[in-house]
Amino acid sequence: MAGIVLDKVNKHYGSLHHAVKDVDLEIADKEFVALVGPSGCGKSTTLRMIAGLEDISSGDIRIGGRVVNNLAPRDRDIAMVFQNYALYQHMSVYDNLAFGLRNKRMPEAEIKAAIDRAAEILGLHELLKRKPRQLSGGQQQRVALGRCIVRNPLVFLFDEPLSNLDAKLRAQMRIEIKRLHSQMPTTSVFVTHDQVEAMTLGDRVVVMRDGRVQQVGSPLAVYARPVNRFVAGFIGAPAMNFLDVTVRAGQGGLTVEAANLTLAVQEASAQALAAWSGRGVTLGVRPEHLVLGDGVPGRSFEAEVEVVEQLGSEILLETRTAAGRITAARVPAETEIAPGDRVRLSVQPGRLHFFDPQSEAVIAV
Ligand code: ADP
Repeated sequence: MAGIVLDKVNKHYGSLHHAVKDVDLEIADKEFVALVGPSGCGKSTTLRMIAGLEDISSGDIRIGGRVVNNLAPRDRDIAMVFQNYALYQHMSVYDNLAFGLRNKRMPEAEIKAAIDRAAEILGLHELLKRKPRQLSGGQQQRVALGRCIVRNPLVFLFDEPLSNLDAKLRAQMRIEIKRLHSQMPTTSVFVTHDQVEAMTLGDRVVVMRDGRVQQVGSPLAVYARPVNRFVAGFIGAPAMNFLDVTVRAGQGGLTVEAANLTLAVQEASAQALAAWSGRGVTLGVRPEHLVLGDGVPGRSFEAEVEVVEQLGSEILLETRTAAGRITAARVPAETEIAPGDRVRLSVQPGRLHFFDPQSEAVIAV
């Protein structure tokens, strides 16, 4: 059993820089957790503290129930995959894979069995005799993964391992890592700034900002029920639209208004939002939840098309409304539409998010 627990973990670099702030996190045995957030939010530092490559300023880290705060990296039974593959250039792939095991004085027959198994999982057999420089970036990263697998560690730690690869290869490696995890379920922590990577790989996603955990949840939960404006804007692409609106209580029920835009508040949000009647809130709506047309009464507004982005599978529209700019996706690719056209966009039912404009916390979804 190798769950990981972070208990009020802090990291100070010198006296001024507080890089990781009171991070509490429980990662279950065999769970795959993705730490995601913008550059500088403290995710690598958090990972490096789990690895033992960085001291903890305060708090506790436990792996498999054992406090590891003062344990050297090699005694933590972890394997780490980095962005730069850190392979030994003068050694063959086979010897790279064998290196750590030989250091542990594992018998050669066992080493061969472990390498065979890893090569099988990762499709490395035909590469075993090559040197790293004879491999593509994706192949080198696969060897780096193989080196982790052969050690059969309690925990895999990934520090942006795919960011050197081109988009197509990144997508392929994502699938390989996912397949690897289902074939060899091992507790894994994966650091990335790429929300798509985090969403597709993680059983759960941990969104960080400025050293603090903002939200922990399944990919669907952080997408559908972001706890604040930051998470709402960070998760999902293209990003959620935000508008400043005022809450109004009318005869037909609660609405939000801005300029000539009026939208009926979905029933599930009405109770929480009623307390905001007469005040300003931030309205959030995802591009993919806006469709062309009138939709349900009270759910649509007029917009002027500024930019048409044809993606082949669909069209992305950049539009201007009286209340501000709005991006809309899910417009069928065949739609005849051009800049300057006036269209109506309607919000799919139950897809409005409301945030406190000061604290940015969610008021209702
Ligand atoms: P991320 O991985 O999210 O991009 P990091 O964990 O690398 O962020 O860094 C978090 C913050 O700590 C950043 O502001 C970074 O500049 C700072 N930092 C990282 N390493 C050091 C260091 N060795 N000394 C001082 N500050 C550091």
